Amino acid sequence: MMKNLINIIDEKSLGTYKENVSFKTLTTYKTGGNARLVVYPNDVDSLREIVKYLKDNNIDFKVFGNGSNILASSRDYEGVIIKLSNLKSLKQEGEYVEVEAGYNFALLANTISREGYSGLEFACGIPATVGGAVYMNAGAYLSDVSKVLEKVDILDENLEFRTLGNKDLDFSYRHSIFMEKNWIVLKAYFKLEKGEKDKIVALIEDRKNRRFSSQPLEYPSAGSVFRNPEGNYAGKLIEDSNLKGFVHGGGQISDKHANFIINKNNATSEDIKYLMDLAKEEVEKNFGVKLRVEQELFNWEK
Ligand SMILES: Cc1cc2nc3c(=O)[nH]c(=O)nc-3n(C[C@H](O)[C@H](O)[C@H](O)COP(=O)(O)OP(=O)(O)OC[C@H]3O[C@@H](n4cnc5c(N)ncnc54)[C@H](O)[C@@H]3O)c2cc1C
Repeated sequence: MMKNLINIIDEKSLGTYKENVSFKTLTTYKTGGNARLVVYPNDVDSLREIVKYLKDNNIDFKVFGNGSNILASSRDYEGVIIKLSNLKSLKQEGEYVEVEAGYNFALLANTISREGYSGLEFACGIPATVGGAVYMNAGAYLSDVSKVLEKVDILDENLEFRTLGNKDLDFSYRHSIFMEKNWIVLKAYFKLEKGEKDKIVALIEDRKNRRFSSQPLEYPSAGSVFRNPEGNYAGKLIEDSNLKGFVHGGGQISDKHANFIINKNNATSEDIKYLMDLAKEEVEKNFGVKLRVEQELFNWEK
């Protein structure tokens, strides 16, 4: 079946592919087993054709952005990972920005903000793709994607191309409708505002410095592990449970920021998962607070 797919991709020039790719290269945790096949469609029509083949043949698949919110297990994945790296066109007319899902979200935010447009300053340190950022409603500093997104082009579960407005996307804190539907984000349309360039640049530089001093960005991670519970901070609860700096295998609950788990020394995905579970258990035992993981566990045994 996979060989057939590869033949079709070659014959019809639908894109490129790689076989047996380590999740270490597909996720920012840099851990995990191998994906049997990773496919990079050339354009949206090629994507549609590939997805049709996968659905018609009951082959499991998953779209990956930059893998900056995913912990893939050490098991090999027999399905297909779809990467939209070739969907990266960008069109800007003043405060209107049209950008495809594979575009680097932090690069977009930095470029546009430094031109004096306001609205994406929050995203300058988020190592996502545009598609992954829409899916997660990524955000920071009391802002998020939903505040600046006008509409999106998608491929739906019936292989139809559709355009949906912001109000159709059920956005809330780190949530969008994409978490419930098997839809693929193809393109995002943002509306920004003209701002004062010097002020915007000063703000993003200040935030960058603060991120570097408060987050363990020198190690692989996937950002904050847990959502902040109402009126509290996950990092503080973990720290107050005496787990800041706790090591298991090659993983560590960061000694710089307790809501980050880092791959310190060739960690396995299971080392990271152990630390997640430990933090959750200890915080519940000590404070009666149930922490919720913000990251996605992919290809773990049920
Ligand atoms: C150092 C660091 C700092 C971070 N800081 C922040 C922060 O400040 N705020 C924040 O919100 N997050 C933060 N994150 C987490 C992460 O960057 C976000 O969750 C981001 O939105 C994930 O985007 P991605 O492209 O990497 O998606 P991935 O991790 O690859 O995928 C996440 C989910 O999105 C789905 N997906 C990806 N692309 C598409 C698509 N085109 N169509 C449909 N579904 C798709 C995937 O299937 C998966 O379910 C941080 C991560 C790191 C490593």
